[in-house]
Amino acid sequence: MQCQVCGAMRPTAKISFAGIIGMIVAYRYFYIKGAMCKSCLHKKFVEYTLPTVGLGWLGLMSLMATPFLVAYNVVRYGIGLVQLRESRTTRPAFQHPSQFQPAAVAAQGR
Ligand SMILES: [Zn+2]
Repeated sequence: MQCQVCGAMRPTAKISFAGIIGMIVAYRYFYIKGAMCKSCLHKKFVEYTLPTVGLGWLGLMSLMATPFLVAYNVVRYGIGLVQLRESRTTRPAFQHPSQFQPAAVAAQGR
């Protein structure tokens, strides 16, 4: 799969991250969703979670949203790592012809 962040052909995980920055009475919300390779997954997790931890509490609305968004990002990051690990260990869809057993032969055996 192609990474939608850096464009490299690597194993990817479909993941989303969210962040918020509080500005006393206003806030800035940012969001990313897409297939990411392992290095981009790590980079985007830091890019979206760190400003939220550091600046998310600087506003009334964002103060309430910050714990949920940080928890969301941590969970998504974990899911992404599991997806990437599974994509590496998953067997290829191709099966060697010698291992292929037609349905008719399987039915005769009964
Ligand atoms: Zn990437």
